[in-house]
Amino acid sequence: TEDLLKKSEQLALIGQLAAGVAHEIRNPLTTLKGFMQLLREEMTQRAYFDVILDELQRIELITGEFLSLAKPHSIHFKQCSINKLLFEVAEFINIECLKNNVTLEVHVHEFMEVMCDIHQLKQVLLNIMKNALEAMPKGGELNIHLKRYEQMAIIQVKDSGIGIPEHRLKHLGEPFYSTKEKGTGLGLMISNKIIKEHKGNFVIESIEGEGTSVILELPLV
Ligand code: ADP
Ligand code: MG
Repeated sequence: TEDLLKKSEQLALIGQLAAGVAHEIRNPLTTLKGFMQLLREEMTQRAYFDVILDELQRIELITGEFLSLAKPHSIHFKQCSINKLLFEVAEFINIECLKNNVTLEVHVHEFMEVMCDIHQLKQVLLNIMKNALEAMPKGGELNIHLKRYEQMAIIQVKDSGIGIPEHRLKHLGEPFYSTKEKGTGLGLMISNKIIKEHKGNFVIESIEGEGTSVILELPLV
């Protein structure tokens, strides 16, 4: 156990260092991006600039997601309605659904409240729904269910997308594990961490070729 302790301390230290590095990278990056955007207008070789901007954006995305993971606890718990939260997120993602030929339905059976950090929970739901949309490049169905099970609120986000092969399931949530060309592989890891901080559970069920269900369980007030 002493070894394990030492290891987890070392990991925590590495995490802090990495967060520091990510933070230091972000500031010059923002400046670079701004100037690149200005330069772009005057340049004839626009294609090159678009590549540079694309890559800068990617670094920004990764450092941003990484920072939100490593950030020391700035969580503010408040009592809030999951129903309201779900409808707000659904309204937001609906535009993307329309663009992607995805029909979105929200099925809510009763009114439920949890103690949560509303911004963090929104981030989780958006991460999950974004993944769902990305799994349905040819369109499909996105169904969100809210149910109660004993003292837990159960949020299910179900897509009719490509699904996840079994050998991949166990890798989900590992840092930088992504099967997408432009993925960061941090979304699920962050989401899982946030749900754990809410004393909840995070479960993914999937059938290859049929679709995926992400189930979030949160303790009710
Ligand atoms: P990213 O979206 O940047 O790849 P995530 O952590 O959000 O990173 O997801 C990790 C991986 O999990 C994805 O690359 C994908 O392979 C798989 N995944 C997550 N959600 C789904 C889903 N709804 N359908 C199919 N695969 C999924
Ligand atoms: Mg993702």
